[in-house]
Amino acid sequence: MFNALHPTASGSRFRISYEFFPPKTPEMETQLWETVKRLEALQPHFVSVTYGAGGSTRERTHHIVARIAGETDMKPAAHLTCVAASRQEIDAIVQDYWDVGVRHIVALRGDPPGGVGTRFMPNPLGYPSSTHLVRGIKSIADFEVSVSAYPEGHPESRSIDQDIDALKAKVDAGATRAITQFFFDNDIYLKFRDRARASGVTIPIVPGIMPIRNFRQVAGFAARAGASVPRWVAERFEGLENDPETHALVAATTVVEQVMGLARAGVEEFHFYTNNRADMVFAICHLLGVRPVREKADA
Ligand code: FAD
Repeated sequence: MFNALHPTASGSRFRISYEFFPPKTPEMETQLWETVKRLEALQPHFVSVTYGAGGSTRERTHHIVARIAGETDMKPAAHLTCVAASRQEIDAIVQDYWDVGVRHIVALRGDPPGGVGTRFMPNPLGYPSSTHLVRGIKSIADFEVSVSAYPEGHPESRSIDQDIDALKAKVDAGATRAITQFFFDNDIYLKFRDRARASGVTIPIVPGIMPIRNFRQVAGFAARAGASVPRWVAERFEGLENDPETHALVAATTVVEQVMGLARAGVEEFHFYTNNRADMVFAICHLLGVRPVREKADA
């Protein structure tokens, strides 16, 4: 009889991680934990929890990360930014994470408190940049530290070379993995990865994959984040504003094509922006061969 779900992903060559955000309401919290439970069976390499702009979710992020550490078999990574906190406050948060068993932080500068497009003014008592934050975290304890990367350039950056220099500085400070901003044109990611490699960046540069749950919302987010939406992607979603079923099928097809395209190009690690939902991400993982293994129960 094959009926017990064993929490071991089958022997897939792919390494998967998932990103969640801290829920705002009890209903959203229920949905998050249902998602966490479903994706846990796929044995992700790690799962990360975002930190609201301006540090607005500090407690909620900590609560979710600590619960994942304490109640699941997954390794959580806590996002942390330099915004709106002194170095002392950030160091205390980092120490708290270590004390509850968290060993991985996604270290970011954060957006300027005035919003994307305004000038970033570091807190006079805080960490002035993501590089300083990475170094600070590593000086507190031997955390695994992931950082961001921008295949199409960060909105504040003048050139891709500047982005690669920023990434190199973060690696020199102790970062061991980069997770990219989302993108829809695989060539942009592959070219960026090749340029980073040619510049001596050797850490994994893991593609951040964003399923398009709501095209209008994702397009707005992309515009603010400096990520392009190719014409062919926009055309796919034209006329689907009031047709959620077709929208969902088109979104699933689009993200599956993207991930399979990257897999054919040799990419073996993926970080999924889940929006706290399991369905599409679970299906993609299934196609990649990342599945819960059914264990042979005692006869
Ligand atoms: P950094 O490494 O600090 O810099 C990114 C680029 O900006 C560099 O390439 C550099 O060239 C350029 N740059 C930086 N400063 C300057 C400057 N002064 N002048 C010129 N160029 C400059 N935000 C949150 O608030 N919470 C989160 O949980 C969160 N998670 C994220 C996860 C991922 C994977 C990614 C890709 C982004 C995330 N962000 C999050 C967004 C991020 O905080 C913003 O994009 C922020 O503006 C930059 O911080 P950073 O650490 O990503 O970039």
